[in-house]
Amino acid sequence: MNGKATPRVVIVGAGFGGLNAAQALAKASVRITVIDRKNFHTFQPLLYQVATAGLSPGEIAAPIRSILRSHKNVEVLMAEVTGFDLDRRIVETSEAGIPYDYLIVAAGASHAYFGHDDWEPYAPGLKTIEDALEIRRRVLLAFELAERQAAVSETATPLNFVVVGGGPTGVELAGTLAEIARHALAHEFRSIDPARTHILLIEGGPRVLPAYAEDLSRSAQQQLNRLGVEVRTSTIVTQIEPGAVRAGNTRLRATVVLWAAGVAASPLGKKLDAPVDRAGRVLVLPDLSVAGHPEVFVIGDLAAMEDEHGKMLPGVAPVAIQQGRFVARLIREELASEPRTSAFHYWDKGSLATIGRAAAVAEFGRIHISGFIAWLAWLFVHILFLIGFRNRLLVFIQWAWSYVTYERGARLITGSTYLPGWSGHQDPSAGSAERSSEEIHTNPPK
Ligand SMILES: Cc1cc2nc3c(=O)[nH]c(=O)nc-3n(C[C@H](O)[C@H](O)[C@H](O)COP(=O)(O)OP(=O)(O)OC[C@H]3O[C@@H](n4cnc5c(N)ncnc54)[C@H](O)[C@@H]3O)c2cc1C
Repeated sequence: MNGKATPRVVIVGAGFGGLNAAQALAKASVRITVIDRKNFHTFQPLLYQVATAGLSPGEIAAPIRSILRSHKNVEVLMAEVTGFDLDRRIVETSEAGIPYDYLIVAAGASHAYFGHDDWEPYAPGLKTIEDALEIRRRVLLAFELAERQAAVSETATPLNFVVVGGGPTGVELAGTLAEIARHALAHEFRSIDPARTHILLIEGGPRVLPAYAEDLSRSAQQQLNRLGVEVRTSTIVTQIEPGAVRAGNTRLRATVVLWAAGVAASPLGKKLDAPVDRAGRVLVLPDLSVAGHPEVFVIGDLAAMEDEHGKMLPGVAPVAIQQGRFVARLIREELASEPRTSAFHYWDKGSLATIGRAAAVAEFGRIHISGFIAWLAWLFVHILFLIGFRNRLLVFIQWAWSYVTYERGARLITGSTYLPGWSGHQDPSAGSAERSSEEIHTNPPK
């Protein structure tokens, strides 16, 4: 083992998988090196709250160093991992090679545009704090630009927000945007009426939340409609351009477009000399190791693995957490000279998806819950699992306050004041050459 007395475990990525692996190994006699390109861990399930100005970044992120500070055998390095030399057992970073005895790769996933990367500037996805802040900037800016235009020229620009993708992220974004427009901003503008903002959720498949049972998908769609979101299912987006989304022959004007439709695994998966699936996830063995390299494990969103019914494990935090702990246990047992026999088994405790204020769905086996009770369950679980007690308490207080007052306290527009496609809205002939074109809303001055 690299000729050293204490074996070295290198963990790439301090997301849910990597952090849990590190914590579960902390009492073992190993030296642990956690490498992440960021100095903080992001609680991704609450990113949409940052994107919609409900929470500030610091409330859903925590420094990796401080999360792991009490574990003396853990060191944290901020570095970009660029590849691996599996024969020499080295993790390659932009600075230097880092040797390992065991390697755990937990680099997660990002959004994918199905080969249309040129859509990204017009339709940001939601994966990182930076993404969330960019979405927040665009959403808040759209209201400001519309108010300014209506105030100075008395012309109205329709405010149309289009969310592409009806999975959990698209649903929570659309629902929360509706809440902002109808409540949080309702009385703060003088020349436009934010409540008349049109929010459209487009889903390519026949129903939203396709991973949930059909009755919950139906309920989610009804709850979205009640919040004021228009849902179009079986609608494939064929083009995104500044200020517009096209679905076949239909051109939909869009002040802000948000992308919640596709996921691609970290490119590091392809650097492990192992087979990958179409999303770039590594096809791992039952013990989560890579074929031919029992000392290399892949966990979390980067790993592709079926459950005992042949269904792919979902890309959710509990899978990553359980896999991190499982691999840590395997390494501990192996170091105690126990043979490696066990296979990873995911304990599915149920799924929860939030839709908006007091709106959610929950699936616990055969028990399906919708509405306020599901939302309370969602709230409880997400606050419980927030990293760090300080954040948990702060977020809870923040939430309770905004529930009572409808306020969204983090409404800051920072950085650029450019909104892609905004000037295009002023051109009344835009889209007129289309065989079929559609304006989805007009927002006249009050
Ligand atoms: C908007 C959103 C909402 C979600 N909501 C929920 C939810 O409600 N419930 C739920 O269970 N799950 C939810 N998920 C999914 C959940 O967050 C993921 O399944 C989980 O984060 C996967 O954990 P992971 O450890 O595999 O990867 P991640 O948590 O993504 O962590 C990967 C880490 O690797 C680091 N990294 C990546 N590449 C490199 C590199 N080259 N060099 C160095 N470091 C690198 C990253 O900086 C990151 O810290 C949501 C995800 C998103 C994006």
